[in-house]
Amino acid sequence: MPIEKIHTLVVGGGQAGIAMSEHLGRQGIEHLVLERHRIAEKWRTSRWDSLVANGPAWHDRFPNMTFDDIDPSAFAGKDRIVRYFEDYAKQINAPIRCGVEVFSATPKADGQGFIVETSEGTIEARNVVAATGAFQKPIIPPVIPADTGITQIHSNEYRNPAQLPEDAVLVIGAGSSGSQIADEILRSGRSTYLAVGPHEKPPLRYRGKDFCWWLGVLGHWNIETPDPSTEHVTIAVSGANGQTVDFREFAERGMKLVGKAERYENGILSVAPDLAQNIADGEAAYMALLDEADAYAVKHGLELPDDPDARSMRPLPDCIANPILQIDLAAAGVRSIIWATGYALDFSWIKAGDFDHKGRPVHEKGVARVPGLYVLGLPWLTRRASPFIWGVWHDAEYLAGRIAEKGSADDQIDWRRKYSW
Ligand SMILES: Cc1cc2nc3c(=O)[nH]c(=O)nc-3n(C[C@H](O)[C@H](O)[C@H](O)COP(=O)(O)OP(=O)(O)OC[C@H]3O[C@@H](n4cnc5c(N)ncnc54)[C@H](O)[C@@H]3O)c2cc1C
Repeated sequence: MPIEKIHTLVVGGGQAGIAMSEHLGRQGIEHLVLERHRIAEKWRTSRWDSLVANGPAWHDRFPNMTFDDIDPSAFAGKDRIVRYFEDYAKQINAPIRCGVEVFSATPKADGQGFIVETSEGTIEARNVVAATGAFQKPIIPPVIPADTGITQIHSNEYRNPAQLPEDAVLVIGAGSSGSQIADEILRSGRSTYLAVGPHEKPPLRYRGKDFCWWLGVLGHWNIETPDPSTEHVTIAVSGANGQTVDFREFAERGMKLVGKAERYENGILSVAPDLAQNIADGEAAYMALLDEADAYAVKHGLELPDDPDARSMRPLPDCIANPILQIDLAAAGVRSIIWATGYALDFSWIKAGDFDHKGRPVHEKGVARVPGLYVLGLPWLTRRASPFIWGVWHDAEYLAGRIAEKGSADDQIDWRRKYSW
């Protein structure tokens, strides 16, 4: 069977793959996007029922299409986001083939491209863009054995409180996922524990502007890739209930906050004594952001309404002042645990080049060391905004430019070869 040839193959039909297709199309580069399931699959099947975008509709979108049925300051639900990307793919006429899985991409012996094995045969491609996402393999740290009788799931399997056994729930991890899930479970009337690690929690709105606007004008979205050894600090933000994530308020409503889950022995979960510090660090970063926003408003003469409520802190709850360091899970009635502890990468299908300690192909701003290999959608690929809807579109623009540059260099090589130079 003849091998299908394509100039640039994009692997993954999520937002990264769609953005890449738009920019490759604009550069006039022949390409194909392969998606093993459906467009925006992760938004369909790896999110809980009530999930809404963290950013408002004016921000969490691509520049060339708005959400026509949503107020720009409102937050799109996950199903609406799926429809958005389906519509977007149609608008740009993206050549996406769904239901095709890529098994491997191996450099050709002559170094001029890749042999790509897929569930529908072999493809030869000059370039390969890995747009397979940053949230690939759910991580559940090996703290509590699987045979304790306690239901343990990762946040990507959580749908709603009704899916969990009756009784108390422990959510581990308080980034955007963990804090939203714990809040929802508490609101459903369950006794809820939340293990809170280091985090940042920007104000949902401050002085009449939302956090996406502030992070934009203050240049935070554009902060460049930090040193690879820098610890990632999760960000706790939610468009769900129209308010800033406030752990003190959660505790006031009855949530039991604890530190990082560390050890499990004979039914007892030991937690680190780091809760107060984690809360204090998150609040200090929050206050620093408000200060920075105020300074910006002064510097640029912005007439914004005052917002004293944003700075008023609720009293320190007892669970922070007198932290729980051990939970007897049975006595506390905890019959289910949700691990909102993030994801690992899986680039095992890329059969070339070096990978760093997190399993990322070694790259600079998405351009891998292996000629013709590109990665997109990873945190800090070029800057803080990189894994998010708005940021990935701009990274894709940059990579398409680099692929176009390489294309003209490749053409020269082909031309020289043709004329035996
Ligand atoms: C719970 C959660 C909420 C989030 N909320 C927001 C938000 O509100 N706003 C925001 O801007 N960002 C948000 N993000 C971050 C980010 O926007 C999403 O994770 C988004 O799904 C990433 O898009 P992507 O295209 O990079 O990757 P993905 O959506 O993961 O898409 C990758 C695609 O590649 C396919 N694929 C993988 N391997 C192969 C293979 N070998 N062959 C073929 N296809 C393959 C997968 O099926 C998948 O469809 C959120 C992330 C999470 C986890």
